[in-house]
Amino acid sequence: MIAAQLLAYYFTELKDDQVKKIDKYLYSMRFSDETLHDIKCRFRRELENGLGRDTNTTATVKMLPTFVRSIPDGSEKGDFLALDLGGSNFRILRVKVTQDKKQPVQMESLVYETPEDIIHGSGTQLFDHVAECLGDFMEKQKIKDKKLPVGFTFSFPCAQTKLDEAVLVTWTKKFKVSGVEGMDVVKLLNKAIKKRGVSTGTNACYMEELRHIDMVEGDEGRMCINTEWGAFGDDGSLEDLRTEFDREIDRGSLNPGKQLFEKMASGMFMGELVRLILVKMAKEGLLFEGRITPELLTKGKIETKHVSAIEKSKEGLTKCKEILTRLGVEPSQEDCVAVQHVCTIVSFRSANLIAATLGGILTRLKDNKGVARLRTTVGIDGSMYKMHPQYARRLHKTVRRLVPDSDVRFLLSESGSAKGAAMVTAVAYRLADQTRQIAQTLAEFRLSKAQLLEVKKRMRTEIENGLGKKTHDSATVKMLPTYVRSTPDGTENGDFLALDLGGTNFRVLLVKIRSGKRRTVEMHNKIYAIPIEVMQGTGEELFDHIVYCISDFLDYMGMKSARLPLGFTFSFPCHQKSLDAGILVNWTKGFKCTDCEGEDVVELLREGIKRKEEFDLDVVAVVNDTVGTMMTCAYEEPTCEVGLIAGTGSNACYMEEMRNIETVEGNEGRMCVNMEWGAFGDNGCLDDIRTQYDRAVDENSLNEGKQRYEKMCSGMYLGEIVRNILIDLTKRGFLFRGKISETLKTRGIFETKFLSQIESDRLALLQVRAILQQLGLDSTCDDSIIVKEVCSTVSRRAAQICGAGMAGVVDKIRENRALDHLDVTVGVDGTLYKLHPHFSRIFHQTVKELAPKCNVNFLLSEDGSGKGAALITAVGCRQRAQEALQA
Ligand code: ADP
Ligand code: MG
Repeated sequence: MIAAQLLAYYFTELKDDQVKKIDKYLYSMRFSDETLHDIKCRFRRELENGLGRDTNTTATVKMLPTFVRSIPDGSEKGDFLALDLGGSNFRILRVKVTQDKKQPVQMESLVYETPEDIIHGSGTQLFDHVAECLGDFMEKQKIKDKKLPVGFTFSFPCAQTKLDEAVLVTWTKKFKVSGVEGMDVVKLLNKAIKKRGVSTGTNACYMEELRHIDMVEGDEGRMCINTEWGAFGDDGSLEDLRTEFDREIDRGSLNPGKQLFEKMASGMFMGELVRLILVKMAKEGLLFEGRITPELLTKGKIETKHVSAIEKSKEGLTKCKEILTRLGVEPSQEDCVAVQHVCTIVSFRSANLIAATLGGILTRLKDNKGVARLRTTVGIDGSMYKMHPQYARRLHKTVRRLVPDSDVRFLLSESGSAKGAAMVTAVAYRLADQTRQIAQTLAEFRLSKAQLLEVKKRMRTEIENGLGKKTHDSATVKMLPTYVRSTPDGTENGDFLALDLGGTNFRVLLVKIRSGKRRTVEMHNKIYAIPIEVMQGTGEELFDHIVYCISDFLDYMGMKSARLPLGFTFSFPCHQKSLDAGILVNWTKGFKCTDCEGEDVVELLREGIKRKEEFDLDVVAVVNDTVGTMMTCAYEEPTCEVGLIAGTGSNACYMEEMRNIETVEGNEGRMCVNMEWGAFGDNGCLDDIRTQYDRAVDENSLNEGKQRYEKMCSGMYLGEIVRNILIDLTKRGFLFRGKISETLKTRGIFETKFLSQIESDRLALLQVRAILQQLGLDSTCDDSIIVKEVCSTVSRRAAQICGAGMAGVVDKIRENRALDHLDVTVGVDGTLYKLHPHFSRIFHQTVKELAPKCNVNFLLSEDGSGKGAALITAVGCRQRAQEALQA
């Protein structure tokens, strides 16, 4: 008797002692209530960032609206199947939503084991298995020959499967899967496999007051928000709480630096955390008398279910001994006690973290409702919560402690009493996953700073290639000399004619430049359409049309008799040997006339004028619109030495040192180089950032394989990129009820101006919807949100890569002049730049970030193609006069 008591006493002592030791050792994993409150507040801030219109894009916790409004929302009528494949279980649900008041939602579900070999097997095996289970389920439900809509939710921890690129969701209530039984599903799945990696793990949905979701209009009702809280901390906000073990887990993961909260709190990483701690302790001789076995060192040898088993109150220590023995570490009784306590600390920390973030959500809910006491129900799912002996209790307790004025009910979303919640869970799963898939699709368009720096670097390489004598011929960025050697000096004077060809409109202009004290530039112009048949007809037709327009203009101005000097703004890549000769390299944008490539366009114009026999002109200069833009701005602002076009196409020019332009004789002074940067990437050097949608746009263009950079960032193509994404999302059932309308199939329907409209900041979704409606796209509000996101993602990337190119240019100028710091002005023209609500801002930001040693100003050009061309013509006339004097 006494012996037994002594033994018990001894054991308690031993336990206390061990526990204290471990507590001390893992001090940083044990959070005080103060710390938990702090985490709660940090998370709440993140929530608010995620919900804010201006902060959402940079927020780590994305707060994706899932569009599950209240429970149930009434639109969930019908009989459908849901497949929920995530982790080791595969669940099939049949959900019937009826008008029956008493029992609106009926749900039946079956869980199928997914055997180990299938989890690690091929995609085909998995899908076969899924199909087999589905068949079985339908047999049991006696619905073998019913055609029920099916929803798929695949949330696979990629690390554990070979399916790291294969996860799919396709499910709309109206989605009709024909012959659900078996192979069609497999086919559908296979077909829909898209690149992506998802991880299960911790995530939460909660009901947010609609009025706080900036992205959605209306303030009635609530919406289930998928907080995506796994990403909490990805911006460094949890750094002080992460331990060396968390960092090690992160380093060994597929997505280092991402999902940091998830890695600390989710069940998936629990066993691994414990293992890492044990390894360290053993190495320090604190456990197993320092024995370290290969098993103990093997990733994944301690699993979450082991942690649960070890923490069982009765058999925990025995289990612990078994598990450790299997690892070959020959544990003593003390070791077992110690390891049990390590497990407790790790799982307790998880519960605490979840409680703190949930606390953040609940306090927000409480404030939203403005009540003194919050009554709410939280639906919870997740194996840790379900399987672990103490996890749920600890979580509840901590939540109640952190949100004192509340009555929080916790519902296991699978339990029979929680069918409604389960229904929402199922729907939320579906929607959350859909949202995630869309995000995944768009993620390819989100370039990191590192990627942008890489774009800048590659641009620099291509610039060098274009300038080099040996490399020029094979270079893609042609760096064409323009024979414009200086910017205007203010002495320019006279009347000039200018033509502007190469953009959306063809224009003829009369420009009157007056020098002297009060410099003035007066312009008259007329816009002419170039019919598509002419744009893609013969060269002769094109130039006859141009000459016809000039003739009309001269009549209109009453100036047919004067032989005016003319500047020809011709915005296509031209090889120039002098100011007034330009051999067309190739057509770009919408043009494709025969018999022009390889010809001098000035000659073609002169021949056209001759054919007409009505008037004569003195063609002095052929001008690229970028150069015209630079010159116009330089007329006002002498530091302007760069020109940029962000309109139909994308291109730039700048003043380069003659000594660097190996394709032109002479080393003195500078010359403006028309970069023709739109062709950047034509040698494949941007292929790693191009997406399938970029490729589709390219394949459907007039010049396949050409102008790849331009096709990612200019007005002519942004809408097309968007349209291609929308088609794909629709095919996958995420948009327009899965129906691809004729409108959507129409090339060019989605003009870039619609991007500007849709992305306009203060536009309510209903207005976005109206715009889409005008386009013939019958959209729901949910569709509108997605479309808006697609637009902003595409235009953001455009502005960023354009900025990356520009950063490369200004840095080159700076280095040319061996300066630590360069002040420079960029003259800009182009409707995309001028009218898009965000393009210019993001573009400026990117330049600033990627070229920190340059202070770059941007000046909007006023009609560079007209005024600039006239200025260049004036400079050209002056040069000619000087040369004549010298001769
Ligand atoms: P170009 O470059 O053809 O000389 P612009 O600079 O006017 O002429 O650019 C025209 C291009 O700008 C159109 O092809 C279209 O893609 C785009 N665009 C037109 N309107 C808008 C708008 N509101 N917002 C953004 N882009 C627009
Ligand atoms: Mg233009």
